[in-house]
Amino acid sequence: MSNRIGIDLGGTKIDAIALSAAGETVFEKRVATPKTYEGVVSAIGALVHEAGEGSVGIGSPGSNSRKTNLWRNSNLLFCNGKPFQRDLETAIGRNVKMENDANCFALSEAIDGAGQGYSVVAFFTVGTALGGGLVVNGKLVVGANGEAGEFGHTALPWPNESEWPLLPCFCGKKGCAEQYVSGTGLQRDHSHATGENITSKEIVARARRGDAKASASLQRLQDRFARVAANIACVVDPDVFVIGGGLNELPELVEQLPPLISRYSFSGTAVAKVVRANHGEKSGVRGAARLWD
Ligand SMILES: [Zn+2]
Repeated sequence: MSNRIGIDLGGTKIDAIALSAAGETVFEKRVATPKTYEGVVSAIGALVHEAGEGSVGIGSPGSNSRKTNLWRNSNLLFCNGKPFQRDLETAIGRNVKMENDANCFALSEAIDGAGQGYSVVAFFTVGTALGGGLVVNGKLVVGANGEAGEFGHTALPWPNESEWPLLPCFCGKKGCAEQYVSGTGLQRDHSHATGENITSKEIVARARRGDAKASASLQRLQDRFARVAANIACVVDPDVFVIGGGLNELPELVEQLPPLISRYSFSGTAVAKVVRANHGEKSGVRGAARLWD
């Protein structure tokens, strides 16, 4: 069996990896993300050629429209409206599989990370935004329209009076989970409740020092995260929730979450398992390499 090559395209850097059939890293390289569309296509082509023979999976913000075959919803704006996958296949000379970065993280963690050995793995990446991915028996669930596992754009479940009116989301709807369960959401919520404009890191630090206002903001974040997770449990009742992203180091969002999820579960007693992602920032490129598995 040949190598698996993974590419992780980000806003500032492109990571490449090649994994041997045994799963060992046999090639690794990082380059800065070029500022033009043509530059990105040729940089990825060059990285793959350097990595050698093998299947190619690419993790990238955005997705391919199945209707038009043009790229959409990418924060690398110059990729939108372009036949990105086709142009990459031409540059590389091989067929490629492409997925958004959260789906690549999810796959990597499910196959040989924190979700290894579990059948149904629900993955969250909690950072400035809230990404999600669902893996069942080692296979990514992408859905009929490529929109499965978009946990950040499910609605905040069971909103209470203080949460009205619901916050608008960039996707055009109101009340998306990402607007609440993210570093950005925590910051905005704290500012709204207290008038203090401080970073999410500072909110956490103050909460740990016993600051009542910061503790209340952190508790609202936990409660909302638990509702989002319990809502997912109503659909697939995952064997494990894996939490990655910048905020995953918080015990408040990992160790303290299961009893809160339980409270919002249908029975009120369901036991949820919540663990921290293993591969850190390498998840994206490792998952991309696994897209052909
Ligand atoms: Zn949304």
